[in-house]
Amino acid sequence: MVKPARLNQINVRQHDNESPTFKLLPDAWVIKVGGQSIIDRGSKAVMPLVAEIKRNLDRGKKLIIGTGAGTRARHAYSLAVELGLPTGVLSALGAGVATQNARILGWLLADRGIPVLSPGELSSKLPFDLAERGAVVFPGMPPYTFWERFPDIGLIPPHRTDTGCFLVAETFGVAGMIYVKDEDGLYSDNPKIKPKAQFIKRINVNELKKMNLPDLVIEPPVVEFLGRAKNIRRVQVINGLHEGELSAALNGDSVGSIIEA
Ligand code: ADP
Ligand code: MG
Repeated sequence: MVKPARLNQINVRQHDNESPTFKLLPDAWVIKVGGQSIIDRGSKAVMPLVAEIKRNLDRGKKLIIGTGAGTRARHAYSLAVELGLPTGVLSALGAGVATQNARILGWLLADRGIPVLSPGELSSKLPFDLAERGAVVFPGMPPYTFWERFPDIGLIPPHRTDTGCFLVAETFGVAGMIYVKDEDGLYSDNPKIKPKAQFIKRINVNELKKMNLPDLVIEPPVVEFLGRAKNIRRVQVINGLHEGELSAALNGDSVGSIIEA
């Protein structure tokens, strides 16, 4: 068991786990647009989703849109691993691809004046841009780069874009965290490999950990962080290839799968 960090010399008041933390942007939503699952599919997946995002801007929804990395990052990782490059370098490469995708999505939303923010700009420009334009796009990769903690096995950075988006949602205390992917939600196994996998409509972190599933629709650190998050108590995984699902999720409908703390 890891002991909690102690701050002996600094006399800080320990935050009591029961008391709420201040929600910085409670009316905004974080949406993660999948790299491999959406953007890599090109126009037929991306354009209807962009149109749906614009319809939701018209409805006054405040959206913080994070991008995945996808196939180009997987290619870079596999090259880098073959060359024996360290996890920190892979993390920086992944961030580069998530940034490419943020720029692509940013241009498709440019006619609405939606800016693309770098991670550093989230602290300076996000509140203004959100109030002014209703949405921002950012690369979902957490900017750990060389400081990314290496995994138990292998070299692939464990904290990638699902995790980066979750941490943004938790930090800003937004209304909800929605993962837009290419499956209806969480299954008992990867439905692309195991077509008989069972759909899981709703589950909590403890149940999910107990099931010890062979593969997950979101990165495992999200499940870990969700279990001890203060603001985000559930994440929703929806199918971005189905028109209307994002709007339904933004209306609070329980479309897709819901993973609860
Ligand atoms: P992103 O594009 O957001 O990075 P990924 O491709 O990494 O998304 O993850 C989504 C994919 O995860 C799905 O397309 C699906 O094939 C796969 N997957 C693996 N395990 C599961 C599971 N248990 N339930 C649903 N999908 C799963
Ligand atoms: Mg992924």
